[in-house]
Amino acid sequence: MLSRPDEHGKYGIYGGKFAPEVLMSALEELEEAFNDISNDKSFKEELDLLLRTYAGRPTPLYFAKNLSETYGGAKIYLKREDLVHGGAHKLNNTLGQCLLAKHMGKKRIIAETGAGQHGVATAMAAAVLELECEVYMGTEDIERQKLNVFRMELLGAKVNPVDSGSKTLKDAINESMRDWVTNVEDTYYLIGSVVGPHPYPLMVREFQRIIGKETREQILDAEGRLPDTIIACVGGGSNAMGIFYDFLEKEQVELIGVEAAGKGLESGEHGASICAGTEGVLHGMYSKLLQDKHGQIKQSYSFAPGLDYPGVGPELAYLAQSGRVKMVSATDEETLNAFEILSRKEGIIPALESAHAVHYAIEEAKRKGEESLIVVNLSGRGDKDIFLVEKVLG
Ligand SMILES: *Cc1c(COP(=O)(O)O)cnc(C)c1O
Repeated sequence: MLSRPDEHGKYGIYGGKFAPEVLMSALEELEEAFNDISNDKSFKEELDLLLRTYAGRPTPLYFAKNLSETYGGAKIYLKREDLVHGGAHKLNNTLGQCLLAKHMGKKRIIAETGAGQHGVATAMAAAVLELECEVYMGTEDIERQKLNVFRMELLGAKVNPVDSGSKTLKDAINESMRDWVTNVEDTYYLIGSVVGPHPYPLMVREFQRIIGKETREQILDAEGRLPDTIIACVGGGSNAMGIFYDFLEKEQVELIGVEAAGKGLESGEHGASICAGTEGVLHGMYSKLLQDKHGQIKQSYSFAPGLDYPGVGPELAYLAQSGRVKMVSATDEETLNAFEILSRKEGIIPALESAHAVHYAIEEAKRKGEESLIVVNLSGRGDKDIFLVEKVLG
């Protein structure tokens, strides 16, 4: 099955555009501009050149021989998004959207960030494309992620502290929306995952699709056939949608998303919007969310900062509901174990987010026979996480 949003930007019951009236025309303008560039050869060439010469694409598909042999089962391949400039897949999207903003004649980019990873990727893309950049960030997050704040400032971005509510990501989202409403003429709002009102989930998936396109060619080169299983971690869902999309019609390829179970799904402290959430509206979209019975958004939790988001992209919610994508979860503890195993066996320190997918790949490999092929989307590198891991292990 291929999933396409309908004319209201809906994927089944999910998605849509839940935005104030003043933003509706801005979303339409954005949709038109995105349609324009989708058929524009020169835009594609410009983005391709940046992806190759600036971001470092294509990223390798690496056969993790030591890891595979340890469990004696399936062959595990790693799609090395950790080698993208900046250390994660996020730059694929920020480069695409900054280039789009430029084509629309916008001079100023705004974004929100939780842990700072999306803020850094946005600041990089804005710097290389000579756009002004302001990033909203909760004061609680600023305190926890000082290094990323400094990185953004070095890259020329202005970091705007948000001191309202819980002083974290959801409050930063509200502030960015407010800024966009006020400055919609010259400002482009850059969302970091396949979330938000239509057309963002569609656009971000299209900019991340390069991961799956490359993977398809690379696995055919290496093995002469498609993989049996593809596994990706899920925060908002962009690295998962990016690697899954070009395999959706190949029903023999099993697609598995791994959410953050944090301290356990029963503990209530997790980030598993699909596995343990309910339906509602957040961030301009209808999707699966973490909320209480009054519709108040709950604080999500994961020790992996990039999975700590109380919602998920509508297209992924739809694919999970339809059964095409299987959703599972991994706890902090399980993930930490996979983080150490991959570091030791392959000399690759994965991001804590990606280590969720590595954990589930190991479990799958144990169950499957030697003929089986598993691809893991290694969405990012773990250098950013070593202080936290040192504290937990210490
Ligand atoms: C941000 C991030 C994620 C989660 O975002 P998705 O949109 O779900 O991909 C996963 N891995 C890494 C390394 C990240 O930085």
